[in-house]
Amino acid sequence: MPTEVEIVEVSPRDGLQNEAQPVSTADKLELIARLVDAGVRRIEATSFVNPSRVPQMADAEAVMAALRGRYPQVSFSGLVLNGRGAERAIAAGCHELTYVIVASETLSLRNQGRGIADTLAGWSEIAHLAKTSGLRRNVLVAAAFGCPFEGRVADTAVLELVEQIAETGADEIGLADTIGVGTPGQVGDLFAAASLRLEGIPLRAHFHDTRNTGIANAVAAMAAGVGILDSSCGGIGGCPFAPRATGNIATEDLVYLLDGMGVTSGLDGRALASMDPWLAELLGHPVPGSLGKASWFA
Ligand code: ZN
Repeated sequence: MPTEVEIVEVSPRDGLQNEAQPVSTADKLELIARLVDAGVRRIEATSFVNPSRVPQMADAEAVMAALRGRYPQVSFSGLVLNGRGAERAIAAGCHELTYVIVASETLSLRNQGRGIADTLAGWSEIAHLAKTSGLRRNVLVAAAFGCPFEGRVADTAVLELVEQIAETGADEIGLADTIGVGTPGQVGDLFAAASLRLEGIPLRAHFHDTRNTGIANAVAAMAAGVGILDSSCGGIGGCPFAPRATGNIATEDLVYLLDGMGVTSGLDGRALASMDPWLAELLGHPVPGSLGKASWFA
């Protein structure tokens, strides 16, 4: 088990992208300000995708423009699906670029509008562009533990993809349980196998809590040596292209668990949990995170 982990807060992107009620740029900036106050140092701030497909992210440039120079201690990433998105993210001043490659062909066609091989080919150009522009290059393998259309994705297919990404160039590779179907044994095995194939490239874990296995999966990933975890304040989120997908593991719940296990994250779980009522009001519905309802215990 690592003694410290890095948390990447994804609520401004993964958390908000699927919300029906529009969230203003000012409210997104307020969310980010509160997260920074709670100690968050890596934030997935937005995504540079087609605004007609994901209207909630149409203000990506405005969000990044407002953040520029404001929080020198924080690294902001933009999610991209293609070269056009990468150019936008770089121009907008993102410190990190997160590119998504879906591990199942069907979801890849639905989500990215092209298959796995084409998405991987697209990464080679973007990886080069991001590197020469000085951005950290993150690749997230989506649906790594299962696809809503194809079922379980073979570990061998995911591992082959991970190797190809590493060969193309990446500073960090994430395995994402996009639809929250993974269980701890599967998660531990896949991360352990992936780490054997990656020399010096850190692994990152991204769990949705659709079947209440997200936190258990986070522990399994850490036990397999993963030191970077994605989570979303309040547990908000979902995927517009994956039916019935729900939010990420809640950051405040994760921080509570880490604290109890003696794992340092640098985040203030109480401060994060205290954001839940504000988030619920902003979104017009309760948020799934547990700590906001139960309060911190120590
Ligand atoms: Zn996600």
